[in-house]
Amino acid sequence: MRIHDNLALNAFLQKSSFGIVIWCPTKSYEEANHFRKKFIDDNLESFSKNLFKLGHVLIKGTSHFSLELVEILKAQQIKSLFFTLEYAYDECFEEKVVSNLCENFGIEFISFDQGAMISIENLPFEIIELPFIFSDFRKKIELQININHTQNLAIDFELDVSLDGEAKALQRLREFIWETPSLANYKNTRNGLMNFNDSSKFSPWLSVGALSPRKIYEELKRYETEVQANESTYWLFFELLWRDYFKFLSKKFGNHFFTLAGLPGVKTIHHPVVLDLKLFQSWCNGETEEPFVNANMKELNNTGFMSNRGRQNVASFLVHQLHLPWTWGASYFEKQLIDYDPDVNWGNWLYFSGRGTDPRARLFNIKKQATDYDPLGEYQAKWNKI
Ligand SMILES: Cc1cc2nc3c(=O)[nH]c(=O)nc-3n(C[C@H](O)[C@H](O)[C@H](O)COP(=O)(O)OP(=O)(O)OC[C@H]3O[C@@H](n4cnc5c(N)ncnc54)[C@H](O)[C@@H]3O)c2cc1C
Repeated sequence: MRIHDNLALNAFLQKSSFGIVIWCPTKSYEEANHFRKKFIDDNLESFSKNLFKLGHVLIKGTSHFSLELVEILKAQQIKSLFFTLEYAYDECFEEKVVSNLCENFGIEFISFDQGAMISIENLPFEIIELPFIFSDFRKKIELQININHTQNLAIDFELDVSLDGEAKALQRLREFIWETPSLANYKNTRNGLMNFNDSSKFSPWLSVGALSPRKIYEELKRYETEVQANESTYWLFFELLWRDYFKFLSKKFGNHFFTLAGLPGVKTIHHPVVLDLKLFQSWCNGETEEPFVNANMKELNNTGFMSNRGRQNVASFLVHQLHLPWTWGASYFEKQLIDYDPDVNWGNWLYFSGRGTDPRARLFNIKKQATDYDPLGEYQAKWNKI
């Protein structure tokens, strides 16, 4: 949902002066809480206004896109379909169905790789050879970094600023990197729980495609050249690399990524899972015996956001202390998170459950974490009084 660095849009603008852009919700959109739904709807409306200014129309489809597409293909004289490449199993399946349909109707089908910072064709290995440990992946990437430049519109264009959309995403990028000292201090603040600038808050816009990861990388490099390069600037790159890693991992492992057993070949011994819905509900509601877990769950339930530190703790608690199925936690996050991303969410849950890559039991000492990251108890006091 963006005008900047949108390869599909640029390719299509070169071919045609009028186009229909179809946005199709996934099942998770239909089941999402109101924070995420509103965020997506606002971004969609803003994107629609921008496209309209360019002379194009946006249609909101349903999650049964392939069925709808048949009708659209019959009714309109469509010659080409431009598609953003996906990584997760269901989305890839839909992509296959749509590409087959296009073939049957004699329509050109062109997909663009623009969801991650690194394009798949620029990886120094085939997806099938993706290393099983993140640091091995990182080292290989860092040996020969190859990230495509962003590709912007050839014309001057003023973005819609009325709603939460691309203009707000780009404003946040400027604010975090250039207008505040946030990026320069990111390595020290990123685990903070209380202040907005402790971390970038790019994730909601990244999840809907309103912010290009390559644009972040480009601004980051410009800051390193023009101002300074330090551990913090490296760390933002490092986190974006984790995001890419989970996308590639999801592409490589398909449906395994979403199953209780996890990735094939992982031999860690696991505690048997407990199918206790009441216990699960207490975790969801923030009513466990751990105040730090409760505070984080209440922040999630009341805002749609939880810090990375919080997510790690509540995931570790659900899997390794309550022994509930990790998939329950991941599904709950899928409904609640404003920044829900299938690859990043399920990838992180897999990792914390010990059923993904680098399979170790990530059992956190929650009380120690609370003391380390909320030493004065301010965060817990804020959310636990709700
Ligand atoms: C159990 C669990 C579930 C998660 N589910 C999601 C999800 O659905 N969507 C999502 O965007 N992030 C998810 N994360 C990753 C991370 O918590 C969020 O990306 C981060 O908290 C968002 O805040 P930020 O943009 O301020 O992050 P920053 O700290 O500013 O990081 C910058 C960017 O790097 C990426 N990033 C940061 N941490 C991670 C990470 N651990 N894994 C992959 N990418 C990362 C994100 O794109 C983020 O926007 C999850 C983490 C855990 C432990």
